Amino acid sequence: MQDDICAISTPYGVGAISIIRCSGPNVFNLINKIFKGKDLNKVKSHTINYGHIVYNDKIIDEVLCNVYIAPHSFDGNNMVEINCHGGIFVTNKILSILLDVGFRLAERGEFSKRAFLNHRLDITECESIMDIISSTNDIALESSNKALRSQTRLLIKSFRDKILDIIAKIEVNIDYPEYEDSVDVTHDYLKPMVFELINEMETILENSKISIPAIHGINSAIIGKPNVGKSSLLNMMLDESKAIVSNIPGTTRDLVEGRLTIGNITLNLVDTAGIRETSDYVESIGIERSKEAINKADLILLVLDGSNELDKDDLELLDLTKDKLRIIIVNKIDLDKKIDIENSISISAIKNEGMDVLSKKIKELTNINEINSFDGKYLNNVRQLDLMKKALNSLKEAYNSILNLVDISLIEIDIKNAFDALGEITGEVSPDELINALFTKFCLGK
Ligand code: GDP
Repeated sequence: MQDDICAISTPYGVGAISIIRCSGPNVFNLINKIFKGKDLNKVKSHTINYGHIVYNDKIIDEVLCNVYIAPHSFDGNNMVEINCHGGIFVTNKILSILLDVGFRLAERGEFSKRAFLNHRLDITECESIMDIISSTNDIALESSNKALRSQTRLLIKSFRDKILDIIAKIEVNIDYPEYEDSVDVTHDYLKPMVFELINEMETILENSKISIPAIHGINSAIIGKPNVGKSSLLNMMLDESKAIVSNIPGTTRDLVEGRLTIGNITLNLVDTAGIRETSDYVESIGIERSKEAINKADLILLVLDGSNELDKDDLELLDLTKDKLRIIIVNKIDLDKKIDIENSISISAIKNEGMDVLSKKIKELTNINEINSFDGKYLNNVRQLDLMKKALNSLKEAYNSILNLVDISLIEIDIKNAFDALGEITGEVSPDELINALFTKFCLGK
């Protein structure tokens, strides 16, 4: 039995309104104790009810209570969302009164966890809610909305249905070979079916190399010797950026120091320390520091000073980044240009020239727009990707065993492992501790 929980769902700070979310079996009775307005036990679901929060005979605030009757609510329980005035004191006051009358403070992500446990949403759909909240561009928002409308759940389901069909055929064949409609499951019979699944999964993993950075941003580093204009480039990009560079705790990976959105591409800036340090300090950490940043990033913006000949350090950086996705940026072209490098772009960070070329190049290299041609056949995050890789490996094991004519009951074990790994993506097969760890990444009140 789920108990009665509450949490402030709007951000901490002053605003016009705050929303306090309450969920549980006794939510209407408990709020009736402090709500002077209609009896919440008697109103219809999905209604907004005007009244006051009154405690110890004092009016605390004028509020609106949105009522949702189970199971037609976000988390499947009876729910009330109290819309109160958006001051920090008044919101906290109402929250503490709710705790007094019998609510428990919700844990991070607990409403979403309940939505999952009550079969309102699967894990991919819960994840998509966080992705909508943290989305920074149109493509990320659109993909996350599709996932919330079950795109990923149905994609995984289609795989699991096909695999289940294979497992069922094997089992019937082993247990009831005398059945008339039991097919003779031979190695030749299994081979094309498993082969097709492997192919489809490989396409999805390939597409996900584009979709995941499109949704969560591309880990990028600005690299270059001291004084080539890295900070100036960053400033130029910030001017162009729709989003403010900021840390978003809990939603981006730890190494990400800020995000910057240009058009539909979000760059997660990693390791900007080299840019921030004073130039004296940079001299001493130059190349070593860069190596670290190069390792952490998927996209390198390598800046060179076009007004000086290439030196040993530039050549070393060019060499260190040659196998990475990189853009070579020749800066300071407002001065006499002394270097000419193939496949580079020219800019003047200080004069704000070349941003359009840089944006175009980033777009070209990252293929972000291709996501529209994938027809929903992609994954949304690294967790899903790792589990699909696990499923794929099991299917490849099965395929090898088919080629080697291994006993079919042993091949079935690998096929079942693939089925389970896919089930972990949606949460149909998930250990409790995994579920708990997953939902603690969510916001409070979500
Ligand atoms: P960083 O050490 O790589 O971050 O380089 P900065 O961005 O601090 O720039 C170093 C120096 O180069 C500063 O004096 C900048 O004003 C200058 N600088 C940066 N970009 C340009 C440019 O496009 N043209 C010119 N002429 N100077 C630039």
